[in-house]
Amino acid sequence: MVRLKSYVNGAWFEGQAPFATLIDPATEAPVAEASTRGLHFAAAVKHAREVGGPALRAMTFAQRAALLKEASRAIYAERERLLDVAQLNGGNTRGDAKFDVDGATATLSYYASVGKGLGDVHHLIDGDTEVLSRTNARFVGLHVRAPKRGVAVHVNAFNFPAWGTFEKAAVAWLAGMPVITKPATSTAWLTYEMVKILIDGKILPEGALQLISGSAGDLLDHLGGQDVLAFTGSADTGATLRGGHGHTQRSAAVNVEADSLNAAVLGPDVERGDDVYNWFVRAVQLEMTQKAGQKCTAIRRVLVPEALVDAVIEDLSEGLSRVVVGNPADPTVTMGPLTTLSQLNDYRAGVALLSQDAEIVFGSAAPMNGVGAPEGKGAYAAPVVLRARDSLNAPNVHRHEVFGPVCTVLPYDGTAAQAAQIVALGEGSLATSVATDDRDFLAEVLLELTPYNGRVLTVDKKVADQATPHGMVLPQLNHGGPGRAGGGAELGGLRGLDLYLQTTAIQGNRGVLERLLNVPKATG
Ligand code: NAP
Repeated sequence: MVRLKSYVNGAWFEGQAPFATLIDPATEAPVAEASTRGLHFAAAVKHAREVGGPALRAMTFAQRAALLKEASRAIYAERERLLDVAQLNGGNTRGDAKFDVDGATATLSYYASVGKGLGDVHHLIDGDTEVLSRTNARFVGLHVRAPKRGVAVHVNAFNFPAWGTFEKAAVAWLAGMPVITKPATSTAWLTYEMVKILIDGKILPEGALQLISGSAGDLLDHLGGQDVLAFTGSADTGATLRGGHGHTQRSAAVNVEADSLNAAVLGPDVERGDDVYNWFVRAVQLEMTQKAGQKCTAIRRVLVPEALVDAVIEDLSEGLSRVVVGNPADPTVTMGPLTTLSQLNDYRAGVALLSQDAEIVFGSAAPMNGVGAPEGKGAYAAPVVLRARDSLNAPNVHRHEVFGPVCTVLPYDGTAAQAAQIVALGEGSLATSVATDDRDFLAEVLLELTPYNGRVLTVDKKVADQATPHGMVLPQLNHGGPGRAGGGAELGGLRGLDLYLQTTAIQGNRGVLERLLNVPKATG
């Protein structure tokens, strides 16, 4: 069994008993243990601020971009070993493990190219110089963006120990902030191995990356106004972290990515078997089964015009009946277990809750054995499809996220107004897809959906074969949603740096300021 260490204050730290046990959810065999007992969190924060921050800020954006590229290469070089760890500690199939690990290296690499384009500068100029005096064009104002002087603390969810860690870290490092990363304890082994690659390979300046393997202790109490807390996890933990800690009293910037009842809407024009219809059914099936449905962006609510509801349920059920649930070590398995036994309990309780508003039309949440797994062992969950009795009055379906291979079909009357109304009942989602060739329907629904979603994917017959999957988070695009989804914003190209850079308005003499701040000459 591997004993995970933390990396703090320039050294590997081994916690004291009691240890949390990490399991292989396919067999329930213990695989690793972790503890942060005895860890001096205040010293880690100080180390980041006094050692990591100055080292990163001494570099230009382009130099930090080169670090990201090197980090991406170093991790990629150990990909096969990392995929094994993702399988053993996350219950990931090979495909699921690649989705996580390759997502990490791809995001590092993407931000490396963004940073290269920013060039050898230590700050960014945001927008144009504005003349502020009516009588003298010399008195102007402009905006400068420069890295905050604190530490970026990243607290992550269990489902993406690789991507979740490095999508956040890539942006913070490019901005010039040191990172203390805290993966969810249950799947921290993969993050530990990845951090070890970067630390042992001396890829980053000392203090730029510290790792907490285990509980966060009193870490957040040491944060202040120059620090950032970026949290991904459940809405309940998000709410706890928003209130009552030192970090909120001292106004550390806080970004929360939480639960989300994402939706997919089938347009009224679509016919069974056409390209857009097939895309829609495949998309729902993929979102239910990839990572066993444990994706923050997975489709939970499936809006279908009344006339097509039976067809969609039939075709979805047909595809899902071919899913083989079991131990990812078995080559015939196409969907692994849930990540922990407590997730399994939540899935069962969640399906029971949804059943108050909807009928189960495919599958069951009853205990099951996984293919290739010991009898009665493992966190196995079968795909379940429900059909809402009344789409406008299904409070559990619109409020409760079942973090597993579960979706609810919500019949609607085919109007854009009702589709938008039903999506809005989720009170804020990360992503909604709309599959239609009806331009009028799309025109009406699109701007009704935007206030309730961080991302909207539209698919018609001309892009059905090229569209990225509904649940795929891309570094070029915003990730984060309003309301229940936490109100956060990550990635989105340069927008992602907003959390880590202070934007300051500077006023004064144009000639002096533009020279001092290396403002690029206006073109055109
Ligand atoms: P969780 O139980 O809320 O835990 C998330 C993280 O918070 C873990 O690292 C956990 O550490 C830590 N944590 C818990 N209590 C804390 C405290 N008092 N102080 C500091 N840290 C604390 O969530 P989860 O079960 O890992 O993740 C599942 C949820 O995440 C789902 O609801 C899903 O929707 C959401 N999610 C959202 C996104 C998104 O981008 N919006 C992405 C992925 C997942 P320990 O593990 O050590 O307890």
